[in-house]
Amino acid sequence: MTHDDVPVTRPTASVATSTADDTVVAPHLQPGVIDGEIVRPAGESARAAVLSVGDELLLGDLTDTNATWISQRLKEQGVEVVHHLAVADDEQAMADALAWLCGRVHLVIIGGGLGPTEDDRTREAVAAAAGVDLRQDADLEEHIVQRFAAMGRPMAAQNLRQARIPVGATAFPPAGTAPAFGLTIAGPSPTRVIALPGVPWELHELWERYVVDEVASIAGRRVTLTRVLHVVGRGESDVAAVVEPLVGDRDGVTLAFLAKSREIQVRLTVSADDRPTALATSQPLVEEVTDALDGAVAGVDDEDLETVVLRLLVDRGVTVATAESATAGDIAARLGRVPGASQALLGGTIVYATDSKHQVLGIDEELVAAAGAVSEPVTEALAVAARDRFGADFGLAVTGVAGPSTVDGLPVGTAYWALAHPDGSVEVHGRRIPGDRGQMLARLGTAALDLLRRRLAGS
Ligand code: ATP
Ligand code: MG
Repeated sequence: MTHDDVPVTRPTASVATSTADDTVVAPHLQPGVIDGEIVRPAGESARAAVLSVGDELLLGDLTDTNATWISQRLKEQGVEVVHHLAVADDEQAMADALAWLCGRVHLVIIGGGLGPTEDDRTREAVAAAAGVDLRQDADLEEHIVQRFAAMGRPMAAQNLRQARIPVGATAFPPAGTAPAFGLTIAGPSPTRVIALPGVPWELHELWERYVVDEVASIAGRRVTLTRVLHVVGRGESDVAAVVEPLVGDRDGVTLAFLAKSREIQVRLTVSADDRPTALATSQPLVEEVTDALDGAVAGVDDEDLETVVLRLLVDRGVTVATAESATAGDIAARLGRVPGASQALLGGTIVYATDSKHQVLGIDEELVAAAGAVSEPVTEALAVAARDRFGADFGLAVTGVAGPSTVDGLPVGTAYWALAHPDGSVEVHGRRIPGDRGQMLARLGTAALDLLRRRLAGS
């Protein structure tokens, strides 16, 4: 069924039709709860919506990381997420949102509003949308009573609210304090609704325990896989101009670009019956795009720039040390976060103040005075000093003007990066790097690391 032919009338409930309380639900949206599977027409992929509940989300106090997390999980299982909705802790708003979603999607995942307090209204809203009453679940009640007994704490009566679930729903015992439940709302195109707690760790735990299998039965065996190409040193429009004609509207491939400070991600999403097939079918395209971008793809999937640099260093049995002015240690830190960094990163120095370049690394004071702290010759000298002081094979150095004010008349964004090679030679590069302070520094670090990557890769 498409969005255009959502039914305006539905059969009435098969189980119960009275609403939980006085929440108003349009007559055609009192369809009841059914027992049974969601059946998708062959060839149609399962569609889902995420409904996040909580005043804080709408007040702007909380970022809806649950929705992103759930989308990622559903995507991995081949379910297409077509709506993200957020509603306040308001039963009517929730019931309205659910009523709108029913019939439009096969699956609705609700996050939040399952706590014990009066403002937690997910139970009531789902019951209202389904046109059923709430019932007290004996097993859940036992769980709650036991939990308080185990803590040796008295239980307030309102805690038993958490044992209420809509009639016809299946209870999922809690991982933390909030239980979850699932039910299928009837209609020409029935919708499975799964309500989970908002607390992220509880949601994750219950997802693994109960939801993965539910999703698999709705999604069938399809998996969706996103291949990520980490592109450095090129702008987004330039990358798009190369990649778009290649990928174009190739069947079954979705192309997206994600611009970050450190890199541009080219994301190729494909579907297949299983992960190995998705990997295998996408591989030729990944290689084609990599070739077309001519050395600018630092790595693919989990291999980002830092990981690739470290792998190349270790593979070649060589080491690196850094001397950082503008980036204040960030380049070394980026390498240091890669597991196994100690095999190739010998160390680094932060020579931020002008005098520190002489005091710590012995750079000629006259050179610094004559050329300027941010300059080709000083950056070159820093790379050599980093290599020699640490006894590394490569020395990597950066200087730059990150702002807000100019330095020695140099505009904000002026940057140099240099690589001292094992054979004694040094190369230095420089340009104006755009962006705010954070972006400029991230890009400078990336430029330096990418220079090392390209030389190690022999390009
Ligand atoms: P529960 O269903 O577990 O009772 P709730 O909505 O009643 O959830 P809240 O007290 O509103 O629980 O939220 C508990 C905590 O969970 C919040 O402080 C917040 O950190 C986190 N949380 C809730 N919803 C989200 C969300 N959509 N994304 C990220 N974090 C969330
Ligand atoms: Mg809440």
